[in-house]
Amino acid sequence: MSTFLFDQIIFGPVRSRRLGVSLGVNLLPTDSKVCSFDCIYCECGWTPRKRQTKAVLPSRAEVRLKMEEKLAQMVENNELPDVITFAGNGEPTLHPEFEGIIDDTIELRNLLTPKARIAVLSNATMLHKQAVVRALLKVDDNIQKLDSAFEETIRRIDCPASNFKLTEVVESLKSFGGKVIIQTLFLKGNFKGEIIDNTTEEELAAWLKLIAGIGPSQVMIYTIDRDTPAAGLEKVKLDELQRIADRVREIGFAVQVSG
Ligand code: SF4
Repeated sequence: MSTFLFDQIIFGPVRSRRLGVSLGVNLLPTDSKVCSFDCIYCECGWTPRKRQTKAVLPSRAEVRLKMEEKLAQMVENNELPDVITFAGNGEPTLHPEFEGIIDDTIELRNLLTPKARIAVLSNATMLHKQAVVRALLKVDDNIQKLDSAFEETIRRIDCPASNFKLTEVVESLKSFGGKVIIQTLFLKGNFKGEIIDNTTEEELAAWLKLIAGIGPSQVMIYTIDRDTPAAGLEKVKLDELQRIADRVREIGFAVQVSG
């Protein structure tokens, strides 16, 4: 399967299914992926297990410079982004200078493209760090992944590091006091001889209960869009996603669907 890596710190703008015209920010290396998950559906491919050399992350100064150059160019061309999105080749909150980079981004956004939102797409594994939580509370769209209410399913789909504890992640998500968007990717299929399906009634009932407990400002549900590193995975049909979305609305939450 052909997955891909972003080869720049600032990429795009691209038209995002979920966010509109999005200027991407990649705080990970431009030649390899760094993530605390190894999702079987990741568009960046598998997370490297062993590295020959330490992964080199861009410095805060480098990110600021590249972002300033790109935003200034976009202003000059009158093509303003709807959103500046932290995503890229892995988990952005792993960057040791994440909070400072968010502060710089807010400053540059306010100066150059004041209408653009700032979004972070995260897998919620760094919420035990106070600096990460502080930074996430400063952005407009704090988007955190929760692919199942069952740790066993998350282990099958997202393949987290062994110290992952779903109960701790859920407590951290609750502590945002509603200033969080939950993103869930629904999929079906088989991987390593096991059935993958986070759309069963048992899964959905438990997931909806967890959503109600977290109380997010919005829920984003979507499915596989591009090639995945694991073979044997299937998209969930749009009408099925819509039925899941109806159930989210029934319990009182705003929901966005991308099929
Ligand atoms: S959390 Fe995101 S970047 Fe990390 S493996 Fe999963 S999909 Fe890929």
